[in-house]
Amino acid sequence: MHEMSLARNLLKTIEVNLGHDRVRVSRIDVAIGCATGVVAESLQLAFSLVATGTRAEGAKLAIVSVPARSLCAGCGILFEFDSLIGTCPACGRMGGDLRSGSEMTLRSIEVLDV
Ligand SMILES: [Zn+2]
Repeated sequence: MHEMSLARNLLKTIEVNLGHDRVRVSRIDVAIGCATGVVAESLQLAFSLVATGTRAEGAKLAIVSVPARSLCAGCGILFEFDSLIGTCPACGRMGGDLRSGSEMTLRSIEVLDV
């Protein structure tokens, strides 16, 4: 399951950011490119599973979807889209060379002292 490995990677990144501080994570903000095909609810569920027993247990995972960008293979324009696969608005060709939108970015971590 794609979301499960993403959730594990996310937790790993959070742990690295926390270092050895005795804190509890209350909220995590991530941005996900829409071309990843990640379903927010699935990622939240996967994250709550992998975070059990860690400092991020029970943290709120806030996910925003960001548009993706592709370079059209037909007419060469760079276009933005907000679905899994884009369609060039100029010539109607699908797909193209994906330039962004296949990434997940950790934007912020909110912690509480324990
Ligand atoms: Zn085109």
